[in-house]
Amino acid sequence: MVVIVSRRVYHGLICGAVLLALLLLWRSPAIRKVISKPGRVMVMIDPGHGGVDGGCQGGSMQEKNVNLRIALALKDWLKQAGIPAGLTRDGDYPLEPFGRPGRHRRDLTKRVRLIEDSGAVVFISIHCDWSSDSSRYGPAVFYHPNNEASRCLAQAVQHQLNQLAGITRREAPGDYFILRTARVPGILVEAGFLSNPAERLRLQDQRYFAAIAGAIGRGIITYLQPTLPKSTAVAFGHPKQRGE
Ligand SMILES: [Zn+2]
Repeated sequence: MVVIVSRRVYHGLICGAVLLALLLLWRSPAIRKVISKPGRVMVMIDPGHGGVDGGCQGGSMQEKNVNLRIALALKDWLKQAGIPAGLTRDGDYPLEPFGRPGRHRRDLTKRVRLIEDSGAVVFISIHCDWSSDSSRYGPAVFYHPNNEASRCLAQAVQHQLNQLAGITRREAPGDYFILRTARVPGILVEAGFLSNPAERLRLQDQRYFAAIAGAIGRGIITYLQPTLPKSTAVAFGHPKQRGE
């Protein structure tokens, strides 16, 4: 007998299975250690580019700076929620100095290593987008097509960002090096289009990038919640929503 299920139901079932796997993982001492041990991080945040690599540019805004501001705001938001988070960079510098050929690939490889060595259970790579069509706007979340946990996390985060931006975008598959290479489920968030003058202006506003960080944080919590013990602050949801 062939049972036909809709794509949405199928994805719901797969997400349920992933969350069950996370729940079982939570029972393992390894995951408990991540939360309970000081200095260990649960979520790794990767602000794209840095230093010589400015990323895309819109007006006078360089992507690397917007990425870092959102990343720092997200780390702060997660800290208030009781989720220890780390950063692949916390200032304006590249992970691989300018000079030798292959710098970009080595920079990305170092980010992957930092994510894996951190012991994090998920990672979020933060970028901004650019298009020759200056009317394009809104945040977009990418997952690796071969990683179902990555897709579930992307779905949760895209849902929150859609609510913030008033859009109905679906999370999308993306074969990015960092998503393909890291042995930790992760997503790549394009926070908005620097090529869109109105969105660029919003991304200069501290309240807006704090709101973006809050939306990403809520998506992470939705994804992690089944695995979290009631004793952690995050178990009851959302920390004080500063600046949102
Ligand atoms: Zn970028």
